[in-house]
Amino acid sequence: MTKYVRKCPACGGEVIEKEVTEVLSGGVNTAFVTVKVGVCLRCGERLYTPDTVRKFEEIEAKLQRQDTSGFKPLGKSFKVPTF
Ligand SMILES: [Zn+2]
Repeated sequence: MTKYVRKCPACGGEVIEKEVTEVLSGGVNTAFVTVKVGVCLRCGERLYTPDTVRKFEEIEAKLQRQDTSGFKPLGKSFKVPTF
């Protein structure tokens, strides 16, 4: 994949493709997604392709609708009362 820009738009550093884990949330639900993104070697800026952004939006919409078919449950998240 060479869809990423070669230079970081933020600092001009070199951009490489890297596999990262992103946390997406929709409503009260959260999902972890491993994706290949462009990462700036200098400032760490993550650069996404339009396809990746669209996929993220789809996942977030599904989370919002509680439609988690095809997602693997990882455990529950809890909110602890304020102390
Ligand atoms: Zn940068």
